[in-house]
Amino acid sequence: MNEHDSESIAGLLEYMNYVYSEDPKDADVVVMNTCSIRENADKRFFGVLGQFKKKKRENREFIICVCGCMPQQTHIVEKIKKQFSWVDIIFGTQNIGQFPELLERRLKTGKKQYDIIANNPDLEESKIKPKRLYKHKAFVNIVFGCNNFCTYCVVPYTRGREKSRELEKIISEIKYLAKDGVKEVMLLGQNVDSYKDIKENDFADLLQAVNDVKGIERIRFMTSHPKDISDKMIDCFASCHKLCKSIHLPIQSGSDTILKRMNRHYDSSKYLKIIEKLRKTAPDIAISTDIIVGFPGETEDDFQKTLDIVEKVRYDSAFTFIYSPRKGTPAAKFTDRISEDVIRERFNRLIESVNRISLEKNQKYLGKEYDIIVEGLSKNDESRYAGRTDDFKLVNFTSDKSLNEIKGETVKVLITDCKTFSLEGKAV
Ligand code: SAH
Ligand code: SF4
Repeated sequence: MNEHDSESIAGLLEYMNYVYSEDPKDADVVVMNTCSIRENADKRFFGVLGQFKKKKRENREFIICVCGCMPQQTHIVEKIKKQFSWVDIIFGTQNIGQFPELLERRLKTGKKQYDIIANNPDLEESKIKPKRLYKHKAFVNIVFGCNNFCTYCVVPYTRGREKSRELEKIISEIKYLAKDGVKEVMLLGQNVDSYKDIKENDFADLLQAVNDVKGIERIRFMTSHPKDISDKMIDCFASCHKLCKSIHLPIQSGSDTILKRMNRHYDSSKYLKIIEKLRKTAPDIAISTDIIVGFPGETEDDFQKTLDIVEKVRYDSAFTFIYSPRKGTPAAKFTDRISEDVIRERFNRLIESVNRISLEKNQKYLGKEYDIIVEGLSKNDESRYAGRTDDFKLVNFTSDKSLNEIKGETVKVLITDCKTFSLEGKAV
């Protein structure tokens, strides 16, 4: 979601005739779009922000802007005012469209422009198109904000109350994207399963409608919430042929006691039933998850239940996080914190399980051919290309073609080797 916000901000700057600079040191305007989901994101932000102080001192015309989740928290804005008072513009997650106005006012008056809206009920539809990271794939917001208040999470405070966009508006955006060369859309929401627009269309209705858009070949979405995922939605894996056979379904913990304390509104048996239904509907579906280790009060027995569910579900991949207390959230006040040593040791055991299973699951791709949409050069080896299968596996492969010929195209690739986080292959 932050990445998509950055695309929107870049679109606004381009509309104002700014051009992208590879190195922030050469830029006239720098916009820092921030995340605050865990503490290390906070720390990195202040570290990087501090590096611009010298540039600002040398060049008063240089403009530095801060936006995203961090300035949606009052204590962060106070800190910027006190320690980084040379920041020119601050805006939040809910008034991105106001950025051009703030920038113009700053340029005209020379005065700082700090404007954050806490809970904007009328998030307007921007007429200015985002500058997409990829030509062939696009992010599309379907639900803004979050109403779930998981006790560890800062998102409901930084992105405000949940609001679904109208189905017609989403479809008209996707039709425009398809005409502009987009093959793959990623529908975005903190909880896509609670999508409901003013005409009572739900997430499954939306998926059916996206499935009908000409030119779109792959539909992905993120993130599903086990408390809201419906049978009607699961059926879409059978009825919508463009819906990719992969789902990200965060479990967070395998212990029902911890899930309750996290305010997740499901238990492990409900979660396992969903997995069963998903696999019945789409037997080869790739399933990924998020897991938090060391939530306050987590006993060895609770943690064992997390390991158990990992072994039962056998995830294709998992994002594993060490619990990070976030100011203003209920869990930050829980006193039964787990010691760092215990968390580290549990975290390592979890990663060992998750990685072992990922590698085992990747074996099934060996010797088979898959359609890959090519994204660009491989990150670790520029003599190869990288792309994704329908079920979101990253494939690094060789081909005789040039990047220009195949970027954004669908290529058949034979899988010749597999690793924990990727597959290797060659174009056939
Ligand atoms: N809306 C999505 C994801 C939001 S944030 C959902 O509900 O699944 C992405 C992930 O970050 C979460 O799933 C959670 O695993 C992790 N996360 C959020 N807050 C955290 C915290 N305070 N400490 C550690 N991990 C956290
Ligand atoms: Fe955070 Fe929970 Fe909302 Fe996800 S559903 S964004 S974890 S509060």
